[in-house]
Order: sequence, then structure tokens, then C-alpha cells
Amino acid sequence: MENLIDRFGISGKSVNLPLRTGQQDFGDIHNDLIDSYSPVDGKLIAQVAKASSKDYERLVELAGEASIYWRNKSAPFRGDIIRQFGNQLRENKDALGKLVSYEMGKSWQEGKGEVQEVIDICDFAQGLSRQLHGATMHSERFEHRMYEQWHPLGIVGIITAFNFPVAVWGWNAVLAAVCGNVSLWKPSEKTPLCSLACLNLWKKVVEANNLPEGIINLIIGDVDPIGHLLTNDKKISLVSATGSTAMGKQVAQSVSRRLGKYILELGGNNAIILTPNADLSNAIPSVVFGAVGTAGQRCTSTRRLIVHSSIFRQVEASLVKAYNSLKIGNPLDEKNHMGPLIDKSAVDNMLNALSLARKEGGEVLFGGKVLDIGGFSTGCYVSPCLVKINHQASIVKEETFAPILYLMEYTGELEEAIKIQNNVPQGLSSAIFTLNLHEAENFLGPNGSDCGLANVNIGTSGAEIGGAFGGEKDTGGGRESGSDCWKYYMRRQTNTINYGKEAPLAQGIKFDLS
Ligand code: NAD
Repeated sequence: MENLIDRFGISGKSVNLPLRTGQQDFGDIHNDLIDSYSPVDGKLIAQVAKASSKDYERLVELAGEASIYWRNKSAPFRGDIIRQFGNQLRENKDALGKLVSYEMGKSWQEGKGEVQEVIDICDFAQGLSRQLHGATMHSERFEHRMYEQWHPLGIVGIITAFNFPVAVWGWNAVLAAVCGNVSLWKPSEKTPLCSLACLNLWKKVVEANNLPEGIINLIIGDVDPIGHLLTNDKKISLVSATGSTAMGKQVAQSVSRRLGKYILELGGNNAIILTPNADLSNAIPSVVFGAVGTAGQRCTSTRRLIVHSSIFRQVEASLVKAYNSLKIGNPLDEKNHMGPLIDKSAVDNMLNALSLARKEGGEVLFGGKVLDIGGFSTGCYVSPCLVKINHQASIVKEETFAPILYLMEYTGELEEAIKIQNNVPQGLSSAIFTLNLHEAENFLGPNGSDCGLANVNIGTSGAEIGGAFGGEKDTGGGRESGSDCWKYYMRRQTNTINYGKEAPLAQGIKFDLS
């Protein structure tokens, strides 16, 4: 890992804020450092200095200056810079994917996939840089023309969660950048090194193109003061925040108080419905990947399985068999399907949820144990868990960020399954497995899934960058990534131009001064 740390320039002066690696003695400034421990082997990877309020003010000033430079560049120029950043990521995909895996704990495959998502969004953003189109309208007034155009907002604040330490930032930062904004990223305190690696790759593009500093910025620090400064600061035009629903409610209040804009990407409680018409040979692997991928720590992880009673026993047996074949261990070893949870408190949350599930009549069919993985006594490895439970249990309405899959039965028609699916506070991702057109279309129709993402014969987890990503209800209502999400990062301006020789008023109003 030492090599990786060097490769991304994570040491000394090359980062926005001072950082120290290794086991140096920090004396009395130790309290101002964030320790980044790997959940893979429990080792301290590096220590990062926390930003102060002064650091924040300095960076916002820098960003403000850069904003004037950047918004005056053409969008295709900005797109070309983002293309070059995508190439940096291409060259470093394996290494950055490895750092994601080591610092966060997801499998290396998934770490690489995360970097690939940012490469994809860079390509998308470059294309977009020539397509930031506004509409034209016919004016009701003679010799008048109307159109709308889109302008940059200014500084975009980006707050990210630990579970996608690279991709979520990438979705936001590169779209914000082609739209002419500068950005300020506050990553999760749990994954500071991934963010430093990304920033240092960006800095290579800055150097190669002689760009000023301050276009894409990083600030690592605690919620108090950094998170609070960012959300309460009128200079931050848009805050895009990804994390728990509890965090989103706080951020929404702070940003709304100053009438700022926000995008919220919050918790999910995603379900798959298996009807009697499901092709189980496709459904079972999708369910298992959805539930155990990233050790159940994706916002789109499959947490609930709603199965028709006619196939319930068969599904239960297939899942127990599949779970028995899963390999849990070092996520850098590509033979393993699942690595550790992020930390011990995540393991405690999982065990608490299981204990509540048991109290509510849940039956653990598989897993739910803390594992000692060959030589690593981190306390972060668990066996993924299958729980048979009634859909009315209160625990199934909560998002437990761990690999627990609740199996629930429905007996009647599809409407019953959809009702169970929608009867939770969250509304992110959902899926149905069926080969029946009537069922599929009803699931997607106005009486169907109430989620932001609804899939047919595809699991809940793993979205493509081309679509708008996000969810309803307690998931926050925000959308980011593809489709027309770029519009969130710009301000719309309606222009009316009079090219005639008179100045008529709208709605035929007469105002005669003669
Ligand atoms: P978290 O809410 O603990 O932290 C997320 C980020 O918010 C961190 O950077 C944290 O420092 C910051 N934060 C927390 N309180 C804040 C405040 N009051 N003001 C400003 N910043 C604040 O979440 P986590 O444990 O890192 O991530 C897991 C959660 O994120 C899950 O609920 C998961 O579903 C959600 N998530 C959602 C999406 C999505 O796109 N919908 C994607 C990834 C993760």
C-alpha cells in the first residue's frame, strides 16, 4: 500500500492541506488529525490534517476567484479539460480502485467499477459541454423573440458518504465543472485518502494546462466546523449532499434557511419483487449481488425481497445455497465476493438490527456472525445474513447499512407486493422479476413503484451514469448524473428581445404617455 500512497502523491506539501503518512510522532497536534484505518487489515494507512475554519475561508476565496476565470471559458474548453481528467483516471484505474478497496473495504472489482463510473461521466460531461441547450419560444409580441439560456451557478459544495468515496464526487464535480462552476468537496471523514488521490490526479491536469488553482477543491474536516460552514455559507450556491437521511434533513434546513439550492441523495430501503412469473435463474444471482455487493453498503443495496408464496420455499432454498457458496475475506483478493464493513460501529448496527428482527419474530436463515478472517482481527468482517420476517415488522422499514436481506411473503396479486414495497419511508431503487408484460408494466405505471429507480429483470443495485440517479420520499428527491441533471448545476435565464421599432406590453396592456 505504501506504493499506492506514493503514487497518488499523498504526502507532505502536494495536497490542499498538510498531510502526514506513516507512524510519525505528531506530538500535541495529534488531535487535529484524521486517522485513516483500513477495515481490510486494521492498519493505520495515513493521518490527514483536519481543515480549520480559516482553511475553509481561504479555499472559498480561492474558489471565488477561480470561478470568474472558469465561467468565462467556453463550455467545450471546459469539456476538453474534463476529458483529460478522465484520461488520468483511465491510467490510474487499477491503482485508484485498489486504494478504494483498501480504505473503504469494497472488493477491488467494485473499486475499479467505481473509478470507471467517473471515467464514464467524464466522457458524458465532455459531450454535454456542446449540448447545454436552452429552448426558444414564440413571443406573443410582434418582432420579439424569446429564448432561455443556462448560466453557471458559482461555487458548488459537494458532501459525500464513505461508501462511494470516488464516484459520487465524480458525478457532481465533473458535471458542475462543464457547466462552468467551481466546486468544494467535503468527503467522508472515513475515506480521506481516496479524496486526496482524486484531487492529486486533478492537479496533474491543472498543471498540464496551466490552469489556476481553485477550480476543483477539497476540504477534509469534521462536520463541525467544515460541514456547517459549507451548508450555511451564502457563497455556496448549490449544496449536493449524499449520505444518511438524518444528515440530509440537517443540510436541507441549513441551506433552506438561506434560500440556497440543494440536491439530496439519501438512504434507500430497496426491494425486489419475485412474482410466480420470474425467471429465477436470472433473479437469484441479481438478488445475491444486490444484497452482498459492497457488503450491503450501497444506497441501492437490496434489503427486502418480496416473494410470492407459490415460489417462496424454492427461493429460500436457492438463496441459502448461494449464500453458502460466498467467499468472504480480503477484498483485494479477487476470489472473494465480499469484504469487511467500514468499521466496528457498522458491525454493531448490523447486530442490533438482527436482535430487533428476532424480537419481531424474524428467523435468521443464514449468517449474521462476526468473522475472524485469516490473521485480520479487525472485527469488521461479517457473514451476510438472510432473515425470514413478516413485512409488518418495524425493522424492515429502516435502512440498516449492512448485508441483511429480509425475505417476505405475499400471497395475492401483484398489487399486494407493490403495496408492501412502497410501505417504507425511503424511495430510492426497486425491481421486479417477471416475464409477464402485465405485471412489468403495472410495476412501472402510476400505481406501481414509488421509487426514483424502477427496474424490470435487473436488480436494485448498480445504476448506469446515463440516467438520472436518485429517489423520492426520505431519499431526498434529488437527481444527479445523466439525463438532464446538468440543469441542477446551472441557473436558467429567460431572455426577451425586441427587434422592432415599437415597445408593446405583454397581455395587450396599453400604457400611453402621450
Ligand atoms: P453520513 O450521513 O454519516 O455522512 C455523509 C456525509 O455527510 C459525510 O461527509 C459527513 O461528514 C457529512 N455530514 C454529516 N452530517 C452533516 C451535517 N449536519 N452537515 C454537513 N455535512 C454533514 O453517511 P455515511 O455513513 O457516510 O453513508 C451512508 C449513507 O449514505 C447511507 O444512508 C446511504 O444510503 C447513503 N448514500 C446515499 C446515496 C444516494 O445516492 N442516495 C449514495 C451513497 C450513500
